[in-house]
Amino acid sequence: MLEELKQLAYDLMWTWQPRIEGFFRTLDPELWRSTRQNPILLLAQLGEEGLQRACERPEVRAGLEDARAAYREYYERNPRFMDAKAPMSIGYFSLEFGLSECLPIYSGGLGVLAGDHLKATSDLGLPLVAVGLLYRQGFGHQDIDAEGRQIEIYFENDGSQLPVRKVEGVEVDAPIGNRNVRIAIWKAQVGRIPLYLLDTNLESNPHDLRTITDRLYVPEPDRRLRQEIVLGVGGVRALRALGVDAMVFHLNEGHSFLCAIERIRELRASRQMTLEEAWLVARAGIVFTTHTPVAAGSDYFEPGLVWDLLGPYLNQVGISFDRFMDLGRQRPGDPRERLCTTYAALRLADQSVGVSRLHGAVSRRLWKDAWRGLPETQVPIGSVTNGVHMPTWVAPEITGLLSRYVGPDWWDLDGSDGRWHAVLEIPAEELWNIHVDLKRALLEMAKERSDHPRQLDLNALTIGFGRRFASYKRANLMLVDHPRLTKLLRSSKRPVQILFAGKSHPADQPGKDLVARIVALAREEPKVVFLKDYDIELARHLVHGADIWLNNPRRFLEASGTSGMKAGANGALNVSILDGWWDEAYQPQFGWAIPSGATLDRPNIDDQAEAEGLFRLLEREVVPAFYERDEAGIPQRWVQMMRASIRNIATDFSARRMVIDYFNTAYSAGARRVEQLRLLPDWGG
Ligand SMILES: *Cc1c(COP(=O)(O)O)cnc(C)c1O
Repeated sequence: MLEELKQLAYDLMWTWQPRIEGFFRTLDPELWRSTRQNPILLLAQLGEEGLQRACERPEVRAGLEDARAAYREYYERNPRFMDAKAPMSIGYFSLEFGLSECLPIYSGGLGVLAGDHLKATSDLGLPLVAVGLLYRQGFGHQDIDAEGRQIEIYFENDGSQLPVRKVEGVEVDAPIGNRNVRIAIWKAQVGRIPLYLLDTNLESNPHDLRTITDRLYVPEPDRRLRQEIVLGVGGVRALRALGVDAMVFHLNEGHSFLCAIERIRELRASRQMTLEEAWLVARAGIVFTTHTPVAAGSDYFEPGLVWDLLGPYLNQVGISFDRFMDLGRQRPGDPRERLCTTYAALRLADQSVGVSRLHGAVSRRLWKDAWRGLPETQVPIGSVTNGVHMPTWVAPEITGLLSRYVGPDWWDLDGSDGRWHAVLEIPAEELWNIHVDLKRALLEMAKERSDHPRQLDLNALTIGFGRRFASYKRANLMLVDHPRLTKLLRSSKRPVQILFAGKSHPADQPGKDLVARIVALAREEPKVVFLKDYDIELARHLVHGADIWLNNPRRFLEASGTSGMKAGANGALNVSILDGWWDEAYQPQFGWAIPSGATLDRPNIDDQAEAEGLFRLLEREVVPAFYERDEAGIPQRWVQMMRASIRNIATDFSARRMVIDYFNTAYSAGARRVEQLRLLPDWGG
């Protein structure tokens, strides 16, 4: 019994299969909550005896039957790519993965995107193997002190208490200067996809190497580069030690650029290739996704540091130090310039993409010097717009509706499938009542997570704002006109309430000041709440229950944004600057665009004018539409927008669509080119 339940617990499919998650919850709702929804801890704390007792309850037995059925059905279903000719698997590298709140190896959007990528890849049955790091302390949890400032709390993770298992008997090395660090490997099972997590916390390592995988996003370049060596070089070696023959590699952000260098090394060593030959073959299989819209978002490493940590290794690869440094320089040949991971990854990859159409254009401008002499429009950076894993992010109640009206396999249908039209026919009362229930659940949750207890109003227009607190995201935009904001919030006839949530990076002082600013607002304003410790669980409640999802970054600085997709697929209406994904998604049938005067050529920042535009939208359009009701109290026009939002966003902005795009535009071409090069007569093997 325990063994069978462990199988369900170690397969992270439960994170997107409510029938399995529901079973764990039913076993012991209180423990489920106190373990932060961690089935491994839950089972350990219940023990064989507690389990036997729980199974005396009929609802537990029924839940188990249902969980078993859901598990079986998933694996018995033929996924789309099962019969596709898959010549080799794809290695997917990322410094963070956001899969569940109980596996704290993510900080925010980049990690959740990587987690969603794996989940959708599992659904589609594409052969992909992922590599990341297992952090002993993860990213800090957020608390708020009496003065309203963010403080970070770090918990120690113990691998034995997480839904990951150690791969016994396999360890690899990675070079750190003249030394080698030993790396242990853990495995998380994400449906059909294995995620291998590297861990340097081994007794055989000296202390300074043991701590490499302590925390996510360490700010010191020295520590960061060590992590990138473990991920890039150690990651490829781990795959080989595990018998994975991947030759197409997807670098999710520049952190893993060293994966390409290790590919060159192994091709030279095993196939007796020259540097140029190995380079060509390695490059053919590298797919790179850049996520930052500003140069400062990359990592930069001083030549001296690179020399110290990578000098001996580069020597072994047979690439000169200067050539390596030049890979990462805007102006190759300038010995003082640091190595920028984005330039390096762009030059090492055969195919590079941004994360929305607009971000593709921003990236071509930003990084054009990687292709000196090419006009901006010809810079070979394309785009694959991000998407979110719908079964993870769409509320079970909305899933129920979609299953009934569209079909039980709604999550596996193309956007062009005619069955999607049925969304537009969901009765208004049914959709609205479900939304109100989800909103009630959100407001309940808000009581627990709130910095300051508040009586929230189920009937008030509820705006959600959940994202990292970084200056460019302008959580404080509406504070530009405090009296006007107060007027909106305190209206007795048509009140508005706002739920804020978000962490700032521990080293980002302006971001932390923003948190303090919003906490102060929430403490004085009864209709504003700040929810602590934004994580996947909180994000899920927010996107399920909000009426409006607000996003007001400075234009061109939000590469894609994904929380608005999560909200929109649940029927929340987006009010957003035309940036990132919204620039291509926006249609007046299901949301609003906050006017901004910024263009690619004149990215001026006019907070005042944009705040004014936002207030006008809210006052003249959003609030009136929300409070316009029929005799039964249903906002018919609003519900029509909700339907259109679900119809468009759940299809076009799904991780399913994203992974298929990656397959069609990058993975299959990469695999083909590597195959072709293997056929060259001078191929050593
Ligand atoms: C989706 C998500 C994000 C990213 O949201 P953006 O809109 O891209 O800023 C960050 N954190 C968590 C926990 C998320 O679920």
